[in-house]
Amino acid sequence: MADKPIHILGAGLSGLSAAIILANAGKEVHVYDVREDSGARFDGDFQGIENWTTSPDFFDEMRNWGIDPDSFKSDAFNVVDLAHPDDIITQPKTEGIAFRVVERGTDNHCIDQGLKKLALEAGAKIHYDTRKDPQECDIIAAGPKDSSAIAFGEIFYTDHPNHVTLQLNDKLAPGAYSYLIIIDGVGLICTCLWRKQKRSSRYLNETIAWYEQNYELNRKPIKRVGGKGDFSLPEKYMHEGRYYVGEAGGLQDFMWGFGMRYAITSGVLAAQSILGECDYEVEVRKRLVPLVKSSAINRFLLNRVGDRGFKLAARYWMWDQKRKGDGLAFMRWLYSPSIFRNLLWPIAKLGMLRRKRLDDGRFVNRMPFRNALKRDNWEPSIEAVEIGKQWDKVRKSGAHTSFTESDT
Ligand SMILES: Cc1cc2nc3c(=O)[nH]c(=O)nc-3n(C[C@H](O)[C@H](O)[C@H](O)COP(=O)(O)OP(=O)(O)OC[C@H]3O[C@@H](n4cnc5c(N)ncnc54)[C@H](O)[C@@H]3O)c2cc1C
Repeated sequence: MADKPIHILGAGLSGLSAAIILANAGKEVHVYDVREDSGARFDGDFQGIENWTTSPDFFDEMRNWGIDPDSFKSDAFNVVDLAHPDDIITQPKTEGIAFRVVERGTDNHCIDQGLKKLALEAGAKIHYDTRKDPQECDIIAAGPKDSSAIAFGEIFYTDHPNHVTLQLNDKLAPGAYSYLIIIDGVGLICTCLWRKQKRSSRYLNETIAWYEQNYELNRKPIKRVGGKGDFSLPEKYMHEGRYYVGEAGGLQDFMWGFGMRYAITSGVLAAQSILGECDYEVEVRKRLVPLVKSSAINRFLLNRVGDRGFKLAARYWMWDQKRKGDGLAFMRWLYSPSIFRNLLWPIAKLGMLRRKRLDDGRFVNRMPFRNALKRDNWEPSIEAVEIGKQWDKVRKSGAHTSFTESDT
């Protein structure tokens, strides 16, 4: 493979990370994407890059790999508001950096465009609007295929200072969480649905109503965005000589959907493996699969609880912070493999995952999109109905939705 050109399917985070490493090592690299640009899958939404699953700061890791994190805009946070299901708000915090917020999309300062710039500077050729047969590619980095969960959000102008809230609430975000991110006068309120719902915008309207009641947002809607997450554990990460990276390789966080770090790391590992510096299958199993498995076991447990379980988890988080003096210790603990989690794994696998053969012949154990529960049927509040009407007006005057229920 050393002298042959290397073909990568997908110019997102994992594909571009692989392209940067390979092109910097002097390889001829071609990246193909069906969309018109890197980041076009997203539309200016904020996402958090976590800094807790492994101990080196992720940006230091990126610098060591030769991927400059200053090529895109990011904002570091060491504190979040944690909204418990009974609306109490507490603050997990840490001394260092807990996570960084980046923007996804096609604007210059977005992470997708930063990595694209680095890949082009390194000499990679990117072919947009192009379909390429996966069989002709060495690295498959084409992102999620199916839906196991979806997220819906609204982007708006606000005069509230920079801020992040994570809310655990089984009504507003069935089986999952919602969040508010504000960076430099632009806010995103997003709700994640880990159970499939009809009329999903009802959840977003109700979630926005909750945030409006709890924060001075002075919200002026711009657009609505969203996307899907595909949660599956493949039996192999290399198949017929091809490297499967990022979400295409099932490298995603089952618990919260923090897939960006896995995407970049797996892209780098695939490139290093092609350069003969490591064995991709071995490295992924050593470095990433234990984290993904822990997140899958946690997801299995979360799927079993409602607000009472969320409340316990939020309380435990704050108790742990008081004891250890560091709010991030709880997040690290959630992802660390343990005897208890190992014992639970066969039950979680059997109870939550379904074995499926994909079109390319790979077998994966995937988490299907779960059905709605009885408790997901509720009438919207007056405030949420008004927010829905407000959005209808904004939409009719030209604002757009980049993701609809039919995209799932
Ligand atoms: C709404 C939402 C919020 C999220 N929030 C967070 C967050 O806060 N933190 C976090 O860490 N993660 C978050 N994630 C997950 C994160 O976005 C993904 O895990 C990450 O982008 C995966 O990277 P990737 O390289 O696998 O895929 P992508 O970055 O999506 O790249 C895949 C690329 O492949 C292209 N493609 C698709 N099909 C083909 C094809 N057939 N041929 C060629 N190209 C193709 C696409 O156009 C795209 O450019 C979120 C996801 C969603 C949907």
